[in-house]
Amino acid sequence: MSTETRFEFKAEARQILDLMIHSVYSHREIFLRELISNASDALDKLRFEALTNDALRPLTEDLHIRITADPKERTLSVSDNGIGMNRDEILQYIGTIAKSGTRDFAKALKEAKDKTSAPEFIGQFGVGFYSSFMVADKVTLVSRRAGDTKAWKWESDGTGTFTLEESARDSHGTTVMLHLKPIDKDDDDAEDYTQEWVIRDIVRKYSDFVAYPIRMKVERQKWPKDADGKTPPDAKPETVIEDETLNSMKAIWMRPEKEVSEEEYKEFYKHISHDWNDPLRRIVFKLEGTTSEFRALLFLPSKPTPEMFLQPKERGIHLYIKRVFIMNDCKELIPEYLRFVRGVVDSEDLSLNISREILQHNKQIQIIKKSVTRKVLDTFKAMRNEDRKKFLEFWKDFGATIKEGLFKAEEDRDKLFEVCLFPSTAAGDDLCTLEEYVERMKPGQDAIYYVTGETRTTMENSPLLEAFRDKGYEVLLLSDPVDEVWVQFVREYKGKRLVSAAKGDVKLGTEEEKKKAEEAVKQKSETYKDLLEFLKTRLSDHLKDVRLSSRLTSSPACLVGDLGDMSPHMETLLKASGKELPKVKRILELNPDHPLVEKMQALFAKNKEDPVLLDTAEILYNQALIAEGGKPENPAAFSKKVADLLLKAL
Ligand code: ADP
Repeated sequence: MSTETRFEFKAEARQILDLMIHSVYSHREIFLRELISNASDALDKLRFEALTNDALRPLTEDLHIRITADPKERTLSVSDNGIGMNRDEILQYIGTIAKSGTRDFAKALKEAKDKTSAPEFIGQFGVGFYSSFMVADKVTLVSRRAGDTKAWKWESDGTGTFTLEESARDSHGTTVMLHLKPIDKDDDDAEDYTQEWVIRDIVRKYSDFVAYPIRMKVERQKWPKDADGKTPPDAKPETVIEDETLNSMKAIWMRPEKEVSEEEYKEFYKHISHDWNDPLRRIVFKLEGTTSEFRALLFLPSKPTPEMFLQPKERGIHLYIKRVFIMNDCKELIPEYLRFVRGVVDSEDLSLNISREILQHNKQIQIIKKSVTRKVLDTFKAMRNEDRKKFLEFWKDFGATIKEGLFKAEEDRDKLFEVCLFPSTAAGDDLCTLEEYVERMKPGQDAIYYVTGETRTTMENSPLLEAFRDKGYEVLLLSDPVDEVWVQFVREYKGKRLVSAAKGDVKLGTEEEKKKAEEAVKQKSETYKDLLEFLKTRLSDHLKDVRLSSRLTSSPACLVGDLGDMSPHMETLLKASGKELPKVKRILELNPDHPLVEKMQALFAKNKEDPVLLDTAEILYNQALIAEGGKPENPAAFSKKVADLLLKAL
């Protein structure tokens, strides 16, 4: 047998453990919920692996969780005969806190003023096991991976190091033994977790629905009975030890909604989601069709959990078939853009030995996915209609993820547009749906206009919108990175084109107004033709064209792109993600009615080699960059040019 090896906890893990050890959190009992949850997950995993691994199948015959308490020794153990962990897995999952979300957690923890509420978000970061240190001064974990012969023992007092050594265990699975802290007499919340009734209460409260029996040996006083089933008058009770199952194991989604308490739903949500916050909303429904029959119990979280960002490929829906757990995070059941939805789907028609491969093409699964998606999107709509303010809060956290559906799930696009909210020049803090936008469209307006950019303020004040403002046209102000993507895919909404205000040539107003404007630009283009040609040649390093604008009313110049060009915001986003990009040259549009542009024309007619001409053009170009929230290409040279010009003007 190999000897014990000592490891140091990573700094972040130490911080969390330190918090646990000194926790004054009043619901310390939840440590048991966390351990039972982990055990239940481990049983799920074994059952799932056994579906495709015959050697493991005999191990799934009596899956259960056992709680053992020893009041004299002050120990409490939770053991399971689930998947277990090998040495590497223990090191990876228990030894260090490897998840990157933990770093954010540690940071949040440092910043949190009220340390007592900190455990509320511990669960979100997947450090549930560590909550044992709220009640224990030493924790011993012994585990044997199903299929392995070796077992491993992990032990720590939570203060800086842990040990790992080879050990023995009769069968596969994991036992977590807590060496409980002495009971603090001055602490009102202190409880003796070795007492049968305390354990029974906690299990009922938090883990009643766990699908595996949670067993415990209990002492019973038994009165002897005679052949007639009567207790003889002189009999004395004898103490017997019996195995009792503490939980009802009732599938919560099979029970009528009005018979399940809010508390039970909340605890179930926490059990399946590993989120310590209460859910925002629950969605209970069933489909009883001829082609498919299933029940679903779904939850919307109140805040995004780190998994949403760390493992966006995983989805939080568990699949059951006729009450039997099949797998968690079944990505075939829900589209990726709804990956934050948690819950359970229980099908009546699928075959129990279904595999991941079959799932992808299974017709029943596709029906379930479609109906789950529709139900969730309908719920969003209902939420918005019930309480727009509250829905906006939700939208702030999840809207960007939901909008991914606009291009990842074309079949849901129409329904998604009924839900999606966008900021716009006319919508205020309430944001608007496309339907609301269309209702506000002006006579003669035949398209839905949008701009993309980094912030709402820069977009709102951009010279690009001058003509729109002038005409009273509303413009969508899209600042989420995902907006850059979906606008590439969506060409129209209910017959109205979706048009970028920053690309191509925009002409606004009625047919007549458009014609007039075109005429005017044509005429002026004659006058300005040579100047435009000259500037285009001289500024060709930065620009692909210089032309007159019909979208400016008060500014002298702005920058636009061709229809297929990447927007500057998209360029910034891609560069920030480390992509090498060729320079995207833009188009400089000049306002022919602006005195500055008129003066430039006069100067050009007099002496086109006057350096002031080119300097002015360069300043206009850089100003246009600044106006859209960008930076001058060469800030120092730009400042110098401005200063020189100012000096001349004084
Ligand atoms: P979470 O359960 O939120 O992932 P924990 O810190 O409680 O976070 O557990 C970390 C990981 O350790 C689990 O994801 C699981 O892989 C492993 N683990 C914990 N308990 C057990 C157990 N009883 N059996 C097998 N693996 C376990």
